[in-house]
Amino acid sequence: MSNGDGAPMTSADSGGVNRFRIQLIVLIVVYTLIVYGGIFVLTRTILADSLRAQAASYIDLVLTTRQWNASHGGVWVLKREGVEPNAFLRSLGIDPEITTEDGAELVLRNPSAMTREMSELTEEGRGIIFHLVGENPLNPANAPDEWEASGLAEIDEGGSWAETFVRTPGQTPVYRYIEPLIVDTSCMGCHTSEQGYSVGQRKGGLGVSIPTTTFDSQMRRFSIVLSALAVFTLAIGVGIALTMVTRLRTRLHVANSQLQIMAVTDELTGILNRRATLARLAEEFERSKRTDDPLSVISLDLDHFKNINDVHGHATGDCALREFTERVQSVTRNYDVFGRVGGEEFLVLAPNTTLAEASALGERILNAMRRVPLTDCPGTVTMTASAGVAQLDEADLNYDALLMRADEALYRAKSAGRDQVNTDS
Ligand code: GH3
Ligand code: MG
Ligand code: MG
Repeated sequence: MSNGDGAPMTSADSGGVNRFRIQLIVLIVVYTLIVYGGIFVLTRTILADSLRAQAASYIDLVLTTRQWNASHGGVWVLKREGVEPNAFLRSLGIDPEITTEDGAELVLRNPSAMTREMSELTEEGRGIIFHLVGENPLNPANAPDEWEASGLAEIDEGGSWAETFVRTPGQTPVYRYIEPLIVDTSCMGCHTSEQGYSVGQRKGGLGVSIPTTTFDSQMRRFSIVLSALAVFTLAIGVGIALTMVTRLRTRLHVANSQLQIMAVTDELTGILNRRATLARLAEEFERSKRTDDPLSVISLDLDHFKNINDVHGHATGDCALREFTERVQSVTRNYDVFGRVGGEEFLVLAPNTTLAEASALGERILNAMRRVPLTDCPGTVTMTASAGVAQLDEADLNYDALLMRADEALYRAKSAGRDQVNTDS
């Protein structure tokens, strides 16, 4: 006589929960990837921007120095070992060497040679190389390389700089940046319009190459930290989400079980309610029809119950209903089904039980009530009940016919003076 203690989780339910779990995990993974991917791209852009700003300020410095040199028509320096005259100047009609009256030998350092020598210095120190690129240069070393040529072409199509990262296996990775070189009046000191120079015209460019070892190692360190944070976030996020899903699922499961129990339980007595009792009767009816096993029902009604309410109060009436339930349960067998089908009307379904056996069970029930005052309820209340017993007949087309015969027997028991069992004949 159990109402069941909860509904088991069906495979459809757990399939739905698993799908929800997977969707949640995918959502967290995608969210984490977007957030940390975004942080990575943003940081890389900021670092690359700072690299570009560094390159541009180097170029600016060199261009300013170059301009200063050009504005003086070149700078004379003392000739010594390693400080050789720029032979290409002769082709411009400029003598790059002079000897002063006091015998000092000087050589001319024009902007191009100065830039080259500055580049040698910065290359030695920080690996930073400048390259002055000319169009139709006198010095073949000033001709653009492949990337510089394409960078200048890109600038010509509408831009003020070009850049690239060069990563060649076995070589130091570098960032390359180039800006156009615009002819100004200071250039015209050496170059002439006959050579195709005019103020404001782009004539070559100035490129810089900066080793990205620091940039790369910063990015590598950042990637490692970011990846660790992403994994940590992912683990925490997935952990929290799964724990919440499990808790929610448990709570839903408990609430669902409680609802299912409530749907079949009589609130006052805790036994099966009318709907559940009749559902069980339908099942037992079908089984008995199928197996030919006997099935009997006992219709029970408390005698003069209205008086108990009237004399002792409604609360005592409720208590009496509960105690009646307990006493019936103490004499029924565990395969009997017991339910409350009306206010003070009950039904016992007795499977595998003949009419005579059910009648005896009815007597035991009535006997359990007789003469013994209700122990758990206030006041000295005695209570009796009447019973009508019927057994399933081959002619019964549905359980209503069986119930009707049990109710008729109950009616006869009431008419005959109550506190007795009447059996369908
Ligand atoms: P009889 O012997 O002919 O069956 O008389 P009776 O008084 O038991 O029958 P009647 O149908 O006149 O009255 C049934 C009473 O049961 C009326 C109603 O107040 C009472 N009752 C029904 N449900 C409850 C309940 O849940 N609690 C209480 N305390 N009383 C109930
Ligand atoms: Mg009644
Ligand atoms: Mg009654």
